[in-house]
Amino acid sequence: MQDLIKRLLAELGEDPAREGLVNTPKRVEQALKFLTSGYQADVDKVINNALFTVDYSEMVIVKDIDFYSLCEHHLLPFFGKCHIAYVPSTKVIGLSKIPRIVDIFSRRLQVQERLTNQIADIIREKVAPRGVAVVMEGTHLCMSMRGVQKQNSFAVTSAMHGIFRDKARTRMEFLELIRLRSGLPGTSSAADLACVED
Ligand SMILES: [Zn+2]
Repeated sequence: MQDLIKRLLAELGEDPAREGLVNTPKRVEQALKFLTSGYQADVDKVINNALFTVDYSEMVIVKDIDFYSLCEHHLLPFFGKCHIAYVPSTKVIGLSKIPRIVDIFSRRLQVQERLTNQIADIIREKVAPRGVAVVMEGTHLCMSMRGVQKQNSFAVTSAMHGIFRDKARTRMEFLELIRLRSGLPGTSSAADLACVED
């Protein structure tokens, strides 16, 4: 990987041998490996030891989880807040595991829409709740830094399942509790959400 990054620096018109760049290939390799470490993470290992059988049927919400990911179209960061809610059926998951799940799927090459769905799907699969809702608010550097569609560099995506999909009241309760910075999901068209793929 370091050879590739050295070549990339040269292709960009830089001198890979100059002092400030000598160790850059090594640093970039380490950074990229960390930022994509979600591919190696064992999600079962994280979750399975943290499922508990309980008699609790109220909504569980974890909001304002920071996430950092890389857009798969430009390899540039997108980052922001993730809000997750579920209504347990028979099991709950340890609260500290929820941000870990977000990290596992964020530390991959992603689009925000798929990332949102993957987080919802894994909770649905492992916790089997009555419903799960995930909302993500992200700033996409591939749009804001490149100066395209600046007004849309902030994207909101959501995944609603079970009771959150079927019951408007449950859904509204969740959305009111997380109070989005940018309005409710669904108010912008799908075309505004993804980064520009050119
Ligand atoms: Zn992008």
